[in-house]
Amino acid sequence: MDLSIIIPLYNEDESLTELHNWIEKVMQTHHFSYEIICIDDGSSDQSWNVITQLSAKNPNVKGIKFLRNFGKSQALHAGFAKAQGNVVITMDADLQDSPDEIPELYNLIINQKYDLVSGWKKKRYDSVVMKNLPSKLFNWAAQQTSGVKLHDFNCGLKAYKNIVIKNIEVSGEMHRYIPVLAKNAGFGNISEKVVQHQARKYGTSKFGMNRFINGFLDLITIWFLSKFGKRPMHLFGALGSVMFLIGFLFAFYLGIDKLFIHKTSRLITERPQFYIALTTMIIGTQLFIAGFLGEIILRTKSNEQRYKIAETID
Ligand code: UDP
Ligand code: MG
Repeated sequence: MDLSIIIPLYNEDESLTELHNWIEKVMQTHHFSYEIICIDDGSSDQSWNVITQLSAKNPNVKGIKFLRNFGKSQALHAGFAKAQGNVVITMDADLQDSPDEIPELYNLIINQKYDLVSGWKKKRYDSVVMKNLPSKLFNWAAQQTSGVKLHDFNCGLKAYKNIVIKNIEVSGEMHRYIPVLAKNAGFGNISEKVVQHQARKYGTSKFGMNRFINGFLDLITIWFLSKFGKRPMHLFGALGSVMFLIGFLFAFYLGIDKLFIHKTSRLITERPQFYIALTTMIIGTQLFIAGFLGEIILRTKSNEQRYKIAETID
């Protein structure tokens, strides 16, 4: 199979038929063998009925229905697990992404041998204050922390080599950072393609302002996990030791000062510096312990798979 097209959707019944017909037209023009995997993320409208009808007409349409709303990341994850095509395309269901881009994306993956090609909505049709400006900041921060040079991390339209999606774990709300997950999993051959973007035709956006807060927190998590996720002691132990040492030396100095230099001055406990030294030592110890706990948690996870294999020869 050439293509798996994964469409996470939440209350998008108005656009589904139009989207399906458009994709089908593109697939037939280019003679692709394909599947369309619609993941109904707990919609409360007619979305699932529409999917059922579409798949009755077109056997290439497959569906997964979630019991309730679990979020776009989980929907993508379920789609990835099911995808069989050599190239896997993800796109939004709201007709903001154009299916006409699929052949070129396919070409980039198959012929240019990219692991992942992300869409870049160079010209966006979304509100400037709510989306365009914050997303500029957001993409800049993501570039800086991850080293993945993309202009538009959060673009719903992306293309992947099959092996890439089978080896990444899209947990939490990490769908914004799939390129970073891919890079951390060893698929660094990442590119982008300017894509057409339309204004939303039906319905409303499913993410509010909290996308930015959550997005930035996720960015910090992903940065931390990729750097120290497998060796927490290296961060916490180092920080903790340094802080403890500073506090200890400072307290030591205060003691020497009181014992030998300013013998008649006020008590150590009456000096503010003493409390700074004490706090530094306590925080240092706690950081150190955090590192230890992190290591212990990692050890107890040892039965989980810790590496992924690209190929084997028997
Ligand atoms: N979506 C989803 N689950 C959710 C929220 C959104 O599957 O909990 C889908 C939604 O139906 C759409 C895609 O994710 O197909 C992108 O959502 P939306 O268009 O609202 O995001 P925006 O374009 O505003 O970034
Ligand atoms: Mg949208």
